[in-house]
Amino acid sequence: MWINRTKYEVEKLKYRQRISYLENLICPCESHDYVEIDYEIIDEHSTVKHIFRCKKCGKLHDELS
Ligand SMILES: [Zn+2]
Repeated sequence: MWINRTKYEVEKLKYRQRISYLENLICPCESHDYVEIDYEIIDEHSTVKHIFRCKKCGKLHDELS
C-alpha cells in the first residue's frame, strides 16, 4: 500500500515535470499567450476569478479581481 502510494507520487511528479518541460518548449520563459476562457464570482463582494488558457500550450492560469 505504502509502496504503491509512493510510486504513484513519483509518477505524478514525473508527469508534472514533463508538462512543465513541454510548456517551456512551446512558451519559453513563461511567454504564454493567455486568453480568458471563463470566469466565476467567488464571494459576496463580487470578487471575480478570471480563468485564462494559453493559446499555444494550453496551460491554465487564474487571476482574481
Ligand atoms: Zn503557454
